[in-house]
Amino acid sequence: MNMDVLVSLSKRRGFVFQSSEIYGGTGSCWDYGPLGVELKNNIKRVWWRDFVQTRADMVGIDASILMHPTVWKASGHLDRFTDPMVDCRECKRRFRADHVDAVSWVHYCPATKGNKFTIPAGEPCGHCGQRRTLCPECGKGELTAPRQFNLMFKTFMGPVEEDAALTYLRPETAQAMFVNFDNVLQSMRLKLPFGIAQAGRSFRNEITPGNFIFRTREFEQMEIEYFVNPNERVEGRPADEYWHDRWIQDCMAWFGRYGLRAENLRLREHDRDELAHYAKRTVDVEYNFPIGWSELMGIANRTDFDLRQHAKWSGKSLTYFDEERKEHVVPYVVEPAAGVDRALLAFMADAYREEEVRGEKRVVLRFHPELAPLKIAVLPLLKKRDDIVGAAQTIRADLAQHWRVVYDDTAAIGRLYRRQDEVGTPYCVTVDVQTVGDSERGEAGDRRVTIRERDSMEQIRVPIAQLVTVFRELFDGASWSQLAEQYPPARG
Ligand code: ATP
Repeated sequence: MNMDVLVSLSKRRGFVFQSSEIYGGTGSCWDYGPLGVELKNNIKRVWWRDFVQTRADMVGIDASILMHPTVWKASGHLDRFTDPMVDCRECKRRFRADHVDAVSWVHYCPATKGNKFTIPAGEPCGHCGQRRTLCPECGKGELTAPRQFNLMFKTFMGPVEEDAALTYLRPETAQAMFVNFDNVLQSMRLKLPFGIAQAGRSFRNEITPGNFIFRTREFEQMEIEYFVNPNERVEGRPADEYWHDRWIQDCMAWFGRYGLRAENLRLREHDRDELAHYAKRTVDVEYNFPIGWSELMGIANRTDFDLRQHAKWSGKSLTYFDEERKEHVVPYVVEPAAGVDRALLAFMADAYREEEVRGEKRVVLRFHPELAPLKIAVLPLLKKRDDIVGAAQTIRADLAQHWRVVYDDTAAIGRLYRRQDEVGTPYCVTVDVQTVGDSERGEAGDRRVTIRERDSMEQIRVPIAQLVTVFRELFDGASWSQLAEQYPPARG
């Protein structure tokens, strides 16, 4: 599937807009619209529920983005959180040295009297056989030798812009879990192994952001630091290695549970020379994005590096007292680190389908019901009938006490269904003449409405009085086919 399709659907239907669009946009920043914010909140909510709320060994925090600048000295970010960067001497554009061969390049071909071609990434010119040496963007300038560029955004704390006031926007949420390790341990009286989770914003001044919300300069992360006792063994293995594998399995299963198809997910082990300075082992969960296989999240065994570094730089002890062995230990940490925006992109890409229904194209986002931004749409069959509209609005208000529900009467019913399919709304409720009857003719309505399910497009008739119960069952995990058996089908 093509990324442009998702970008345009996102804009048209209120998922994601370009930041400050009316001013020409801000480099690689995106705003989540009315449906995007619901989807994003749902992703964070189920992540928090599954990995924090329901687990006895997990707690959460919400730390500030601005931290003491020494945090970044201790963590290694000030010295090592860099990417190699090259500049074009001609057009002044900047590229990541390790990404420059992965983009298509502009070439003025000497074999064809200097004709301009755009050549696919990594390939030589089909006419002269030359490979790229100049700037891929303008095709004219030489690139400088690589220089290291720190990805942290700098800012000043307080009214004076001087070096002493220099601080940084956090490039990851993880460090707050390490510097709060003792606060959390003491206040919650935790026993190893336990984890601290946080979802929040991070900032990286990426040299080559792009691919929609895949790589941006401001993004959200959902991170867990899971502390284990390195002296313990679980199932015959060192605790850190055992828990690392457990988290890898749990994270893969989590993405599958909310809809990512197995064939679009894979694990990638980092090579020795690729490992971050703190890591004993790192495994990425990769997703087959519209741009190809890329990192969705990373799961690293960071050993005791961070706690030791912060203990050294702060002068505070960051240890755990092992009652059994009567010794202080510095826990090892396993870090499952996911990006909210990348997860959202993956869930959207995987949910997107184009289907043919009765000779017409139907676009549908087959979101897992828990992720779907809108859960139910209530639609009146005839918007000129006040009694139908009134009943539909009352139903919307009742259901909205429990779920995100919308009302729409701005088109004919077929069109209204397609609109909801396109944003992934799992159920539509339709109020028609049969529901309300005809008071002028003295005909009573049956007080039943039609529920239409998004994926099968099947329809059943359900009493209004049972709607909340029915939807509760559905959203609690009952399958549509199970439920549909209990009610008469509606005329499609
Ligand atoms: P990459 O190699 O893609 O730059 P990374 O390995 O530096 O990513 P981590 O530091 O492991 O990323 O961050 C954990 C997660 O945060 C990533 O797997 C990704 O989902 C998300 N993330 C990191 N950088 C960005 C970014 N610039 N934009 C959006 N999400 C990001």
